[in-house]
Amino acid sequence: MIEISGLTKRFGPITAVSGIDLTVGRGEVLGFLGPNGAGKSTTMKMAAGFLAPDGGYARICGHDIETDTLEAQRQLGYLPEGAPAYPDMTPRQFLGFIAQVRGLSGDAARNAIAAAVHKTELDPVLEQPIDTLSKGFKRRVGVAQAILHDPPVLIMDEPTDGLDPNQKYAVRQLIKAMSPDKAIVISTHLLEEVEAVCTRAVIIDRGRIVADGTPAELLARSHHHNAVTLIVPAAQADAVAARLKSIPAVADVQQAVSNGEASVTAFPKDGALLIEDVSGMASRENWDVKELYAEAGRLDEVFRAITTHDATRARESRA
Ligand code: ATP
Repeated sequence: MIEISGLTKRFGPITAVSGIDLTVGRGEVLGFLGPNGAGKSTTMKMAAGFLAPDGGYARICGHDIETDTLEAQRQLGYLPEGAPAYPDMTPRQFLGFIAQVRGLSGDAARNAIAAAVHKTELDPVLEQPIDTLSKGFKRRVGVAQAILHDPPVLIMDEPTDGLDPNQKYAVRQLIKAMSPDKAIVISTHLLEEVEAVCTRAVIIDRGRIVADGTPAELLARSHHHNAVTLIVPAAQADAVAARLKSIPAVADVQQAVSNGEASVTAFPKDGALLIEDVSGMASRENWDVKELYAEAGRLDEVFRAITTHDATRARESRA
């Protein structure tokens, strides 16, 4: 439903987006991740037809965004970064205007606005100028205009930016509920958001795709994937660590002591499952275990490993 090929954008000497290829199908919620300035917003603007590319193309439901713009944008809901335009309007006026632009009138417009207002919980502020709304409500007005015409494709630039934890949860639930019959792309800096709503994550860095997979596939690249941690009394830590090292599937053991307790973590070779070996050893050897847990992996670790460049690494290792 979204087809992007060779998409490129230069701003003077900066190549903001450098040959991005991407397809997104029905039922997918693709999380677009990357450091500041990686090119996420620029890619989304080009895919939505708000910025002309210098190379490549984007198609929405088969319609080229540059040569068949209106038909492509009919199939598309787009939430740009920042606040919605027309701050003097109230949400009711703004959504009425968007409905008109989308070709809806009469009952169809009223029903579409009511549904979008309900889904984004905008009732309390419908008659208040957008300019005077809190950041979270402004963002929700933006989400409401993007979903108003129930488009098959949604492109949303940081949809939960500025929302409080309850509102974040509500918008994520909304995205999930809409996802089965839509193709959705969201950009985010919140790695927990990827795990909460995305079926697929794409990491871009310096305008290029550097990782593309399900959240589970990315987690499998984490150093902590299938690592097992035990919390034991500090006095037992060295002995526990030494025994854990004797397990053939253990690659490395690390420990940290605080307040008389030690956290001892066994890292597996090649992502092997360690939990049974470790828990079996702990019960056979009567360790005084306060906690024992395995980890799926840490997305922040993968993100850092992929997007921290050699120069930064060298600087960090010198520090
Ligand atoms: P963030 O996470 O900070 O929102 P991003 O991944 O969305 O970043 P972009 O906003 O797409 O990144 O910017 C990519 C690069 O292009 C940056 O170096 C940015 O400064 C540059 N850039 C974006 N828009 C313009 C513009 N209109 N004129 C000049 N440079 C621009």
